[in-house]
Amino acid sequence: MSMPGLAPPTDLFARPMGSLRLSVTDRCNMRCRYCMPEEEYRWLPRASILTYEELARLTAIFAGLGACKVRLTGGEPLLRHDLPELVRKLAAVEGVRDLALTTNGILLADRAAALREAGLRRVTVSLDTLRPERMAEFARSERHADVLAGIAAAVAAGFESVKVNAVVIRGYNDDEVLPLLDFARAQGVELRFIEYMDVGGATRWSRDQVVSKAQIIDTIAAAHGPVQTVAARAAAPAERFQLGDGTRFGVIASTTAPFCRDCDRSRLTADGTWYLCLYATEGVNLRDVLRDGATDAELVALVRSTWAARADRGAEERLAVPERGVLYQVESLRADPRREMHTRGG
Ligand code: SAM
Repeated sequence: MSMPGLAPPTDLFARPMGSLRLSVTDRCNMRCRYCMPEEEYRWLPRASILTYEELARLTAIFAGLGACKVRLTGGEPLLRHDLPELVRKLAAVEGVRDLALTTNGILLADRAAALREAGLRRVTVSLDTLRPERMAEFARSERHADVLAGIAAAVAAGFESVKVNAVVIRGYNDDEVLPLLDFARAQGVELRFIEYMDVGGATRWSRDQVVSKAQIIDTIAAAHGPVQTVAARAAAPAERFQLGDGTRFGVIASTTAPFCRDCDRSRLTADGTWYLCLYATEGVNLRDVLRDGATDAELVALVRSTWAARADRGAEERLAVPERGVLYQVESLRADPRREMHTRGG
């Protein structure tokens, strides 16, 4: 749905729009200490949540401007009623070439086949520990077995790829780098280690809990021998590596080695606020524009001109902060829940 004759936009650093992350709900059925550690949250009003028709319409606008990769996230996207119906709608959008889901896996076992059948191509499941008691303590969920069943069901459903994401945190699961790698290898899925990020919502973050990419690689190399770099797509967040036996894994080093210069992604919250960076303080309210009756051409023009003015490089700016601490205190998150990672879409 681009304007005839106009090339897809690039931003002020010549970055194209390549990927759109749709947070389909701000609700979650886990309370990970690095993301949702508080007892209470301010949720987005229900009437503000975009319908599947609205999500599909906005996705078509973005896809027409170059965002051919779409990922469903949240919150926990599987809490949204009948997610396969949304997948079916988005898979039919012209220009969407890749459709993926990030989930905590708790509800995945029953739904993996229906999601695949609806047109979902790839799944990433978050799994930080192989120990149920750790998950119970750290993420306030007793449903570890369901997550493992979800991963197995995703593998069985025949997705183009199934990945597992693990955030590595010193003092929590940094002793599970090797066991998690073994687990992923045994399941036939690729593991991606994620550095602990000081995003909105990470109100317990501190520098000393970050296990860096270099430390993760050192741990793996000490056990498995030399680690080779594997070429990755330029805008992909993960750097990929390979062991001597062919096992591949990735590391997303957003905290110690951010990839802003290649970042082609933006995020839409469940209530239709569009953020051009995970760390952006302001977003664009596309919901009101949409509900006020904007035409497709008007929406295209707004998204195009906003992207063309994009200069965000939030993670690199965070890296330059000398006394780096928590990004937002709890009061500031309560004042604007869209500052939360679980609202903005991880
Ligand atoms: N509920 C889904 C899930 O658990 O995958 C999707 C949303 S969750 C916010 C998306 C990803 O963000 C998860 O892999 C999670 O581990 C990651 N994440 C959340 N907070 C983080 C933090 N402070 N640092 C690094 N990754 C984080």
